[in-house]
Amino acid sequence: MADSNFIDYVKIHCRSGKGGAGSRHFHRAKYVPKGGPDGGDGGRGGHIILKGNKQMWTLLPLKFNRHIFAGNGESGSAGRSSGKDGQDVIVEVPTGTVVFDAETGEFLCEVNEHGQEIKLLRGGRGGLGNWHFKSSTNRTPRYAQPGEPAIERTVILELKLLADVGLVGLPNAGKSTLLSAVSAARPKIADYPFTTMEPQLGIVSYRGNRSFVMADIPGIIEGASEGKGLGLRFLRHIERNAVLLFMVPADADDIKAQYETLLNELRQFNPQLMDKERVLAISKSDLLDEELRHEIEKTLPADIPHVFISAVTGFGLDELKDVLWGAITDERNQIATPDITHRPLDGHHRVREEDEFVFDTPPTIEADEDNEEDFDDDFDNSYDDIEWDDDYNLDMIDEDGDTRKD
Ligand code: GDP
Ligand code: MG
Repeated sequence: MADSNFIDYVKIHCRSGKGGAGSRHFHRAKYVPKGGPDGGDGGRGGHIILKGNKQMWTLLPLKFNRHIFAGNGESGSAGRSSGKDGQDVIVEVPTGTVVFDAETGEFLCEVNEHGQEIKLLRGGRGGLGNWHFKSSTNRTPRYAQPGEPAIERTVILELKLLADVGLVGLPNAGKSTLLSAVSAARPKIADYPFTTMEPQLGIVSYRGNRSFVMADIPGIIEGASEGKGLGLRFLRHIERNAVLLFMVPADADDIKAQYETLLNELRQFNPQLMDKERVLAISKSDLLDEELRHEIEKTLPADIPHVFISAVTGFGLDELKDVLWGAITDERNQIATPDITHRPLDGHHRVREEDEFVFDTPPTIEADEDNEEDFDDDFDNSYDDIEWDDDYNLDMIDEDGDTRKD
């Protein structure tokens, strides 16, 4: 992954299309003096749809296209002809994209599967033409329904990597070194904190033709969940990992205490992370002799499987892969059923540059989104009041009832 291309956070401004106005036309023809109302319905406004694409691994393309507008529906016209529907916009996003409302931080949805489509903003419904309003008491309805207004919303898209194994460890625990030892990934390795500025993914091949994805996530330092250090921005990538591999170096003063520190960070970030399967690797075990290893073994936490490894000598790596594979393939740990509840976003650790991104149009109030059905087919009882909202002026449509194009 090139340094500058990995974008896991982007703020975009979306607007669905507004519905086309219904027409209030009256049929006119030679010898048919009172042809009656025949104004057609307005077309539906375009939706904004998110679509998962597993070939994408960054939100970068959206950074260059941060204003996304769907097309407006066209007005209805004479002869009961319906206006054309507005153009939908399909926004492709990597699988594992989570969407939040930028104003409130509220979690909106997530796109987890390839090809999955989620309607982010519904296009406005088209208004009904005047012929719908003909009745025995009013045979010449001089009104038609206006189109429903567009919906505008600023959303934040965040990427969560879908790795099978996430590495969790303090800086210098040997995470990057392990990833290079077991996969083709070549992360930067150095013995100062935060060499890993971006999450690195590696594909680990296991016993012939099997493989799994391991992600090196930049170091978590104590207090990261309160916003200290670089860890927090990346901590959320761990949320979607099936198995967490904790790494504590063999030369740590107190391995058990360090493990508990890490665990505590995760718990504070999102308590649901505690439900994930954990494995503990004691890294840099080449620094230990057999005797020391047995000493340490006695002090290790009992509730988690452990493996002594050395990424440098290769010691214990096969055993580690066996343990990880067992945990990944355990049905309880599959990421296929994401059960993490997303906390609302908290803006304070956000990238500044993104936050300075200002829109000149204030977002409008959201219409009822509960009804995910396709509205176009069921006009009947839903519109007792023909206006969508009070501001809309019916006089905007010609008295003659002819098509009004926006
Ligand atoms: P990270 O911050 O967790 O990614 O740690 P790194 O992989 O960058 O490693 C930190 C330091 O520990 C580097 O100087 C590595 O050379 C060293 N290191 C990593 N793995 C081993 C190991 O298995 N044995 C020894 N002796 N040193 C290691
Ligand atoms: Mg590293």
